[in-house]
Amino acid sequence: MRIKSAEFLVSNSDVSKCPKDLIPEYAFIGRSNVGKSSLINMLTNQKSLAKTSGRPGKTQLINHFKINNEWNLVDLPGYGYARVSKSSKKTFQKFITQYFNHREQLVTAFVLVDVRHLPQPIDLEFMKWMGENGIPFSVVFTKADKLKPNAITKHVEDYKNVMLKTWEEMPNYFVTSSSKFVGKDEVLGYIGELNENMEAQGFLKN
Ligand code: GDP
Repeated sequence: MRIKSAEFLVSNSDVSKCPKDLIPEYAFIGRSNVGKSSLINMLTNQKSLAKTSGRPGKTQLINHFKINNEWNLVDLPGYGYARVSKSSKKTFQKFITQYFNHREQLVTAFVLVDVRHLPQPIDLEFMKWMGENGIPFSVVFTKADKLKPNAITKHVEDYKNVMLKTWEEMPNYFVTSSSKFVGKDEVLGYIGELNENMEAQGFLKN
């Protein structure tokens, strides 16, 4: 898919205020510093559509961008645990769980993880939560330029092996590097395919 236009639409912290148009939507999420802003900028051919970090205290907002006048890209904030009252039960920030549970336009999410690291508990728990709530997602390994090719293969294999302890199969995944433009065509091609499926089902077109 060629990116012809990418425009910022709106930021808010309430899923009920997100854009109402019924066009396919794709959400990007991951721990802060995982490389989410850089990935969004790479995918959309922009230098600073999504702000890259280095700015502490970034507000926790759901950011909508319209791409090619055809689909929405959503930049979600880094997830963290929110403790539920005095119990030790942990969950994710409410507006993130509300976004995923209520956003009917969402086609799939992309959960970003740093290719250099073994699965972190919070990432595994987040993906488990997504699975339990029936929300489709792909894993996006970021910063692949930081490893040699055979190390990438090994890290991805190790990651898969940990996932397969709880998942029947490894979710769909992509290996990316925003600084080297790796994985761009694959991620955009996948979104393009899903858009076509949506259109075939009569979901698209406002
Ligand atoms: P965010 O907090 O998830 O939005 O992460 P950013 O996109 O702001 O990136 C965090 C840091 O990782 C910044 O210093 C980026 O320059 C760096 N970074 C992001 N993507 C890549 C990548 O593909 N390769 C390398 N080498 N560094 C990256």
